[in-house]
Amino acid sequence: MRRLASLVAALCLLVPAAAAQDVPAAPDRERGGGPYDRLILRGATLVDGTGAPPRGPVDIVIEEDRIARIQAVGAPGGPVDEAARPEGASREIDATGLYVLPGFVDMHAHLGGAAQGTPAEYVLKLWMAHGITTARENAAGNGLDWTLRHRERSAANAITAPRLLVYPALGTDRDAPLTTPEAARTWVRRMAEEGADGIKVFQAPPDVLRASLQEAEAQGLRTAMHHAQPGTARYDVLDTATWGLTTGEHFYGYPEALFTDRSLQDFPSDYNYQDEGDRFRYAGHMWQQAAAPGSARWDTVLDSLRALDFTMVPTFGIYEANRDLMRARRAEWHDTYTLPSLWNYYKPSFENHGSYHYFWSSGDEAAWDTHYDRWMQFVNEYKNRGGRVGAGSDSGFIFKLYGFGYVRELELLREAGFSPLEVIRSATLEGAKALGRADRIGSVEVGKQADLLLVDENPLANLKVLYGTQALRFDKDDRALERVGGVDYTIKDGIVFDADTLLRDVAQMVREAKKEAGMAPDADLELTQ
Ligand SMILES: [Zn+2]
Repeated sequence: MRRLASLVAALCLLVPAAAAQDVPAAPDRERGGGPYDRLILRGATLVDGTGAPPRGPVDIVIEEDRIARIQAVGAPGGPVDEAARPEGASREIDATGLYVLPGFVDMHAHLGGAAQGTPAEYVLKLWMAHGITTARENAAGNGLDWTLRHRERSAANAITAPRLLVYPALGTDRDAPLTTPEAARTWVRRMAEEGADGIKVFQAPPDVLRASLQEAEAQGLRTAMHHAQPGTARYDVLDTATWGLTTGEHFYGYPEALFTDRSLQDFPSDYNYQDEGDRFRYAGHMWQQAAAPGSARWDTVLDSLRALDFTMVPTFGIYEANRDLMRARRAEWHDTYTLPSLWNYYKPSFENHGSYHYFWSSGDEAAWDTHYDRWMQFVNEYKNRGGRVGAGSDSGFIFKLYGFGYVRELELLREAGFSPLEVIRSATLEGAKALGRADRIGSVEVGKQADLLLVDENPLANLKVLYGTQALRFDKDDRALERVGGVDYTIKDGIVFDADTLLRDVAQMVREAKKEAGMAPDADLELTQ
């Protein structure tokens, strides 16, 4: 079993054993105003997250941390019905021309780490600046106590942070691997006692895995699984969903359920899973070996997962470098917002997770392009059959930056075939449902927590307006490019954060880190390399 433990360690540097060094904790909150006795957002266009079409102008009343009233105040473009307006504001925001959405839920988030050199403040502010008000920490890679402490401080709004849900990785805080169902059940009960919201699983012997998932359900914990390939010879997503798995991360485990002319993925004879170059290259060949769209097996798998109330969290974005390495490497936000230590972490190495682009080829990108086509079709059809799909970014690896990576995930859901309203619903209410929190968050409805974002362009027309670097638009009168959009405010628990201020804080952290690294504070990140 020692072999298994080292495999798990090689699999992902997120296992808690790797968290020996402490990641700098988030400082006490100095940003954000409120909550207010009566905050009124005036004249907004509301996209409420339920899938309902936009409506406005509306005035939204927030009392302390709750949404108290949503009031229509006239016809769009017409005079405002002043008599209808709620009164008695202790703070007002003129939201004329602004879109109000529920705060986003990042279903697959990692709170940085020692190897990346990313302090908690950096990650948390990038999330908040992009309207992410809830993040599910997948694996608690910085340690269970550290992550739970941040969850509690965020719940008390003592730090600038989304609300956090903590899913420690299977085996967290144990020296030896779990080898029996009883040991797994004991461990799950301990996690429940320590206050975990769920558990994250990569792989385990089938009986241990089944016991873990079933005990989690019995304890009221939810579960997330990245079906790591050393395990999927023995089970696939249909097995784990039947054993009670709540959410399937990424794509692993799905093609395996769709094999009809083979029972195992066909790897080249010199494949070595411990070589991340191999691992990611041939992961891009999985869907091509699976049953075709529209086949009987395709239908059976989709319908079975739907019947089990299963949630897919595809994290399309995190693999995008495999389809287009240049796009991921040269994303326009890196120079201003990527810490030099994180940039170093991304670069090819033997040590760092996801740093495997040793000599990535045109053929590799072509294979991944085909892989994406099938995978996106599968996820889109799942949504069309009533299946739940959440938005998760998995940022911090493979050139994907916190916050920015989440907006890219929304764009890729769009590319998969989701309509803009379906994208927003996945990013909000569907995520809240998968977390078991839809009674409190995930939509803008009276009685819910005041978790919102405001943006001054229509995100349904162009999701790019949600990027912190805004969207490019050619002004035909001035004959010049301008940048438009960007989240204006993120509101969490009724506390109003100015998104630009958060981004400026992050940019300043990056400048200081460059100076410390002996670089010019505004230096680009090796454009020529
Ligand atoms: Zn992850």
